[in-house]
Order: sequence, then C-alpha cells, then structure tokens
Amino acid sequence: MTNQAMKGVGAAPGLAIGQAVRWRKERPEVVVTEIADTDTEQKRLEKTVEEARQQLRELRQATLDRMGEEEAGIFDAHLSFLDDPAYIGEMKNRIRNQKKNAEAVCQQVTDEMSDMLASLDDEYMRARADDIRDVGGRLLLLLSGIQPFDPTRLEPGSVIVADELAPSDTAQFPPGIAAMVTARGSKTAHAAIMARTLGIPAVLGLGESLERIEEGDTVIVDGESGDITLHPDTETQQQAEAEMKRQREVREQALKRADEDAFTADGHRIQVFANIGSPADVDAALQNGAEGIGLFRTEFLYLENDHWPTEEEQVRSYRQVLEAFGDKPVVIRTLDIGGDKDLPYAELPQEENPFLGHRAIRFCLANPDIFKTQLRALLRAGVHGNLWIMFPMVENLSEIREAKTLLAECRRELEAEGAEVAASIKVGIMVEVPAAAIYADVLAREVDFMSIGTNDLTQYTLAADRGNERVASLYDASHPAVLRLVRQTCDAARNAGILVGMCGELAGDPKMTAALVGLGLQELSMSAGAIPEVKEEVRQVETDPARQLADKALQAEDGSQVRAIVEKGKMN
Ligand code: PEP
Ligand code: MG
Repeated sequence: MTNQAMKGVGAAPGLAIGQAVRWRKERPEVVVTEIADTDTEQKRLEKTVEEARQQLRELRQATLDRMGEEEAGIFDAHLSFLDDPAYIGEMKNRIRNQKKNAEAVCQQVTDEMSDMLASLDDEYMRARADDIRDVGGRLLLLLSGIQPFDPTRLEPGSVIVADELAPSDTAQFPPGIAAMVTARGSKTAHAAIMARTLGIPAVLGLGESLERIEEGDTVIVDGESGDITLHPDTETQQQAEAEMKRQREVREQALKRADEDAFTADGHRIQVFANIGSPADVDAALQNGAEGIGLFRTEFLYLENDHWPTEEEQVRSYRQVLEAFGDKPVVIRTLDIGGDKDLPYAELPQEENPFLGHRAIRFCLANPDIFKTQLRALLRAGVHGNLWIMFPMVENLSEIREAKTLLAECRRELEAEGAEVAASIKVGIMVEVPAAAIYADVLAREVDFMSIGTNDLTQYTLAADRGNERVASLYDASHPAVLRLVRQTCDAARNAGILVGMCGELAGDPKMTAALVGLGLQELSMSAGAIPEVKEEVRQVETDPARQLADKALQAEDGSQVRAIVEKGKMN
C-alpha cells in the first residue's frame, strides 16, 4: 500500500526522502561464569575500560570538530563514569568477592546504577541513566569481542531507523544521512539536540508503528510536523522533492546575505542575535551572521566543573566572548540552576516541584558569595566589550533591586581594590514567569532591557512541563495565551522606552518571524543555525500587515490556529 502515514514528534526540522536502514544495536548475550583467577579477570576489565576510554576520546574529538563544545561535552559524562569508583570500582569488587566474570558484573552494576538514576524525579539524572547504559553497552561489546554496527557502511541518503539512538550513535553518522526516526525519545533528548546541530531532520517517539518500516523502504520524513510517509507514490515523492528543493534554495539564499543586518521591507531594524552555551559556540554564531549575543547561558561553566568556578575562570570565559564580538552587545545571563539543571557539588536539596522551587535568581540571592563571584567576574570582563547583564526567572521588583544592589557593591569593592571595571553596563531581566509579563510595566522601571524566555514562559503559562513527553502536545509556545503575554511585555517595554527581545526557542522559528515583529519585538535571539533564515524572513516583513497578523493571532482559538494564520499570512 502506498502513502502510509505515521506520526511521531518532530524533533529536528527539515524534509527528507530516503531509504530506510535499520540501526542495529548489538546486545551480547551475557552468560554468568565462575572465575578462579580473579586477578586476571580484573585486569581484563581494566584493559577493556582503557579501550573504551580511547574510543570515547576519539568520539569526543570528532564531535568537537563537527558540532562544538556543548555536544562534545556529552562524552565527558561518559568518560567520567569510567573513572567512577562506584561504577568500575564496584565491578572489580564483585569480580573479586563474587568470583563472577567481567561481562556478568558489568551488566549487573550497569543495570543497578541506571535503574537507580532513572527512578529519580529529575530530568538531568534520567539523562545520566541513558549515559550509563550507553557506556555499559560499549564495555559489554568490547568484553564480548562483538563488532558493533559499522556506521561507515551507511550510504548517503539513508534514513536511519532505530528503537532509540544514543548521542554516541548520532555522533558517528557519516555525512549525507537524510534523516533519523526512532520509536522512543523526546525533543529534549541529547540525540535530538545533536540532530538539530547537524541539520538532520528527525522524528522521534513513533512507538510500535516503527516496526512497519522495513530495510530499504522509501520514506519521507518531515522533521517539523513529525509526519512520516511510508512507500510514497510517484506524485507524493515529486511533491516532496520540489519542497526540498525550495527549502534548499531558501537556505542558500539566506546564507549569502547572513552577514548583512536585517531590516524589514519598510526599513525597521530588527536585531538578530545568537544564543550560546559556551565560548566554543562563538565561531558558529559569527559564521551565521549573529549581530550580537542575546543569551549566553553561563550554566556550562558551572556544570562542566566539579567546583564552583573561580572569579578568574569566569573572567576568562566571558572575556573570550566579549572580545570576539567587539562593540556588539553580548547579553550574559547570570547563573540559572535548579529546575531541570542540577549541579552535583551544589548539593541542592530535593524539592517536590523543582521548576517552582529555589532556582535561578532565587538561589543566587540566597547565596550572595556565589552570586558576587559571578558579578565581580562580569564587571571585570566587561572592560573587554559591550556587556549586558541579564537576571533569570525574575518575578518581582525587589529581586531586581537586590541583584542591582549586589552588583553596585561588587563595583565599589573592585574599584577599592584598584581593579579595572566596565564603566557602564546595561542591566536587564528575562521575562519567563507569567507574573513578570503581566506586570512588565512595573518591572520595566528598574531595568534597561527585557528578553522574553518563551521556553519557561510557555511551561508556566500552560502548566505543561517542558521536558515531559506526556504533556508535549500541550506545550505550545504559539498558544495565543503565551503570545498575549509577549504582546503585553512588548507594550510595557515600548512605553518605558526600553529594549525588548526574545531568546526562547520561538524566536528562531522563521514561520513566526512576521508575527513576532508584529507583536513588537526589536531583537530576536536563537541558535546560530536559524539566524540566516530568520534574517531573510525579517526582510520580507511589512510592519503594518505584520501588526494585523499579530492581532489576528492573539484572537486565535489555539496554537494550531495561530500557525494556520501565520502560514496564510505568508501566502497573502
Ligand atoms: C527560556 O526559558 O526561554 C530560556 C531562554 O531559558 P532556558 O531555556 O535556558 O531556560
Ligand atoms: Mg528559562
């Protein structure tokens, strides 16, 4: 039967057509045997751990070269398990005490640790459970001498079909892979993030329907909508190919003009900035035409270390980014931990509702020593560029005042110490809690700029956890209720004469660009890859029709109607 339709979660945008190839996960059959010479067996395990370490280092380097520091960092987590006494040390203990073979203890300890991590009510820990299963699988293959699936045999144009893909699988994709589809996994899974970075369309969470796809089948994958068409007829294939060609041309055209600033057709400047997670992301931002940094998430500095990063360590990182952008604005967000971002050495207490708990600015104000170290580093680094400081998760005026008081205190202390400090720095907030949007007019009195974080604003407005697959269909940043809060924030900023931008994922959706300009945004910040296309969209926008489009979207019944309205707006 031709044109069989299936639906999963669109996790990395783009349209692709190709031939299905099953990604086979070899799982060795583990047989428990009794070991007489436990010393030799321990040494065999040690040798295997060393081989795994070598493989992971190579994967890390290859990922760093192809994707960047953030993606490569996934393998640091894997490597750290190989040094963990609770993991490898425990395997060795069991070889000695229980006299079991290395394969058996490896499987036991991996299962126990991953089950324990997976049972914790914490997205970060659950991701660690996936990491440890990935590492355990690698060790078992090495111990059993089984050749793993060889990705080099994948032909260009293959559509990878798998139950689940680990980041270490995605990292091995050769160039030219058309798309990936999986039975399990969510938009926030590491493998999905990598697919977006590599520009590979991905549809995840297809469930049992994945079984209908057989080796060699022709499939069309729409990574935006999550639609899969199995055995497309000639006409459907031709339509898909024409649409792919159109998308390619749009992308090529956009890249040619990526370096030019973006003005609407009637001459209004919209600044298009990049979101980054570490100094290693700066090159990609510049290559794609970022006119500044609209969000530097500083968490990485804290997450990649096993200690609170020192003032000097922080100055080095911030300075690197500021110098790369010269006089262009660099918005650096102060520490945003808590919620789904845990920090092992911070020993944060377990909370019933971490997203509604002691996170971000709340944590920083309660820990002034940690906060002041970051503020001092920012003030010192600010000498080297155009620094804007942004506080996350603000929900009332006194939080802003307290943070500004600490900033002034740091400035006085540094000046007394004779340190060079940036003369003037803009101070702003993220608007990502509904309260902040609802009374943005009051908050606007205390700040120089506001940036709307739609990722959190959406989850709080719609009461739908951003990382929970089961409410993924409710989590929709285009919901008119979210857009109304965006409009309200833009109006408040305009009346107060301050700048307003957006740095949540919605800002990088080119389909929404006209509506966002119509809502009143002056700056849009996004992952680097989205910049060229969003700039091209800005160039098509006429301000008055965009405003009318936004007004219409605000009256829509739900997010899908908003998307239909903006789509139709483009065709008129
Ligand atoms: C947001 O909430 O929209 C945002 C940009 O911050 P993060 O995704 O880091 O929470
Ligand atoms: Mg946020």
